[in-house]
Amino acid sequence: MRLRSDVSHLLNTNEVPTKIEVATVQNALDSLTGRISTLRSQLERLEEQHRHHRAILSPMRRIPLEVLAEIFVLVCRPIQSEYDRRTVINLGLVCKSWRAATLLAHRLWTGISFTPDDPWSIYDRVVSWFKNSGSLPKSLEYDATLNYCECSDDVGESCISRHLALAKLLVNSPPLDHFTLVVNSTQCFREWADIIGMSSLRPLRSRSSSRPWDNLRSFNLTFNAEYACEYEWDNSSDPAESIFFGLPPSITSFELCLPPMRATFADEEERSRAALNVPAQVLERLTTFTIRSDWYGTKVLPMLKHCTNLETLTFDFKFKSPLLFEGSHPLILLPRLRTLRIRHTTDIDLLRYLQAPALLHLDLVLCDGELKFADTLIEFLDVSNARPALQSLRIYNLRIPSDASASPTSPPFSALRSRKSSSRMMALSSLMRTERRVM
Ligand SMILES: [Zn+2]
Repeated sequence: MRLRSDVSHLLNTNEVPTKIEVATVQNALDSLTGRISTLRSQLERLEEQHRHHRAILSPMRRIPLEVLAEIFVLVCRPIQSEYDRRTVINLGLVCKSWRAATLLAHRLWTGISFTPDDPWSIYDRVVSWFKNSGSLPKSLEYDATLNYCECSDDVGESCISRHLALAKLLVNSPPLDHFTLVVNSTQCFREWADIIGMSSLRPLRSRSSSRPWDNLRSFNLTFNAEYACEYEWDNSSDPAESIFFGLPPSITSFELCLPPMRATFADEEERSRAALNVPAQVLERLTTFTIRSDWYGTKVLPMLKHCTNLETLTFDFKFKSPLLFEGSHPLILLPRLRTLRIRHTTDIDLLRYLQAPALLHLDLVLCDGELKFADTLIEFLDVSNARPALQSLRIYNLRIPSDASASPTSPPFSALRSRKSSSRMMALSSLMRTERRVM
């Protein structure tokens, strides 16, 4: 559009327009704005059509449902909270084929988590959810991490662990492979055990063998760290009265996460009296054992001597070093141990107490660990006679001083390589995942 000739002389000058020229220019601007708006609308419509047509040629349409299903499994959590479940549902709402892919991915429907805030009707939703998982093993999680329970405070207060839907799921159906229970205290654990009939006074053999709880393969018991200082650790020193006495004989995988020791016990006397007392008959059956604890070794290590069938042991020290100043303990033989993982500690003193002649994999994740533990590592491998068979050694987050002459291939680490082991154990230089830091 061209301006009328009577104002065109203003375009390239700084002359002040007259009133008539102002009105003329304003009319021209209004006209230009209208045309721009019309063309912009046309452009948007064309771009929309372009997008729709381009989508027809999208390679996404050619992805097989099986591949789509695998992608969905990778992006979703194995045990799903209400939020995670909504994600799965939303994936299925995209289109018919995506819905078909979510139903094809049975693993999307194998794990479910709920909290004390969920109503009784969660039972039906869990059962319905699991139906889409086919015959795959199912996992259940009851998480009281964000709920403070008053059952220890006042007599008569109901415990958040006494959730009727949870009890029905563990006593009636469907069959479960794994169960994670997060409770606030030993009292909450007792309340939960009571509602499903896991009384320490009731012998194992008298229970029905058809209950999901009695046929559980894997159990994770976590004592919530959030309110640890609010509760007393109340467990009997008599193993027959221990809170762990009624664990079912079917459990071969057990994860135990203890509350932080300093927050749980008021003083040294309480700490020395604290009892765990997981029955030997439970420990003997375990093939996989994960312990997350900063408790003294005298409290935790005795459990390991009963773990004669253990194949995988993971010890997470929760960024503490409770064994650092501990006295001597008898050597604990773990004859079938294949994989040993130590997590989140500055030292590996646990190795001073273990003997694992069948060890294949040793995996250490430290928090600012220093080179000083090398002797402990070498001694452990020698005491266990594990060097010839060892297949992998990973040391993560090891702190190496920038001016140190030591490197993964120089002493003391080079001592780990022997003529016998060099053909089977990869060079440490390639196995160590080390974060080098300048001190
Ligand atoms: Zn409670």
